Amino acid sequence: MIIFGTKGYIYQLAILTLVCGQCGNPSAHTLRKRVSKFTLFFVPLFPYSTKHYTQCTFCGVEHQVPNEQAEQLLAQSATQAQQGVGQQHGANPFAQGGQGGQQGGGNPFSQGGQGQQPGQGGNPYQR
Ligand SMILES: [Zn+2]
Repeated sequence: MIIFGTKGYIYQLAILTLVCGQCGNPSAHTLRKRVSKFTLFFVPLFPYSTKHYTQCTFCGVEHQVPNEQAEQLLAQSATQAQQGVGQQHGANPFAQGGQGGQQGGGNPFSQGGQGQQPGQGGNPYQR
């Protein structure tokens, strides 16, 4: 006797801010991947179906999206994350201060002494 069946797995891939087509709110949407696997004796062997869904966290409506679009959304979320990190680096006054010290004859304290206030010496926007 052979026992076989299917088993579904759900993976949450990303959370995206999208304008919902149902409620019209720019709210967070979860991007999920649903993988159906063929099982033999309750052991999952191989996936035979992969589908992607977005779900609005505001009204709860769920939409199936093509795999290509899901990959685009995933890449978009990764780009958003990288931009956020980049902004944090740009606002870091210590990175600029280190570079300025190397350019200014190797003395890292000369720039800070002229500025009197440490905040001015490390601010890249006032130079
Ligand atoms: Zn909605």
